[in-house]
Amino acid sequence: MQNTANGKYDVVIVGGGPAGLHAALVLGRSRRSVLVIDEELPRNRVTRESHGFLTRDGITPAEFRRIAKEQILKYPSVTFQTTKVVSATGHDGNFLLHLEEDMIVYTRKLLFATGDEGRIT
Ligand SMILES: Cc1cc2nc3c(=O)[nH]c(=O)nc-3n(C[C@H](O)[C@H](O)[C@H](O)COP(=O)(O)OP(=O)(O)OC[C@H]3O[C@@H](n4cnc5c(N)ncnc54)[C@H](O)[C@@H]3O)c2cc1C
Repeated sequence: MQNTANGKYDVVIVGGGPAGLHAALVLGRSRRSVLVIDEELPRNRVTRESHGFLTRDGITPAEFRRIAKEQILKYPSVTFQTTKVVSATGHDGNFLLHLEEDMIVYTRKLLFATGDEGRIT
């Protein structure tokens, strides 16, 4: 899972909705090692069509995410993991995240993009 030289990511993004995906795109273009962790429970999962985003009016939320991931994966320093972040500890430059199934991840920077339903201790 670690796409890094020393076992620590530059940035871990918690949440793979529009906010987290946009951050991943920009950081990938900056050649940062990035892990996007998403449990795939977006707030708009009940809606069939999403409106008002230029060039994507009427798209399904799932298709929006698919296109976003396809474009982000052109930047090889970005990887994705489908799971839940249970807890985060540490300080700027040195964070430790506990994921479900007893996995751990180290990162220098931590970006929360969990929408309004995120639950992390
Ligand atoms: C019914 C409905 C219809 C909508 N229709 C429109 C529309 O037509 N047009 C429009 O522009 N906007 C619409 N919105 C608003 C739009 O959905 C939000 O603005 C957008 O989803 C916010 O993106 P986000 O990335 O902040 O959060 P989200 O899309 O909610 O993504 C957050 C992600 O973080 C993940 N996450 C949370 N906690 C953790 C954790 N501990 N570990 C791992 N992952 C975690 C979640 O599973 C989720 O995938 C609608 C919203 C709703 C509810």
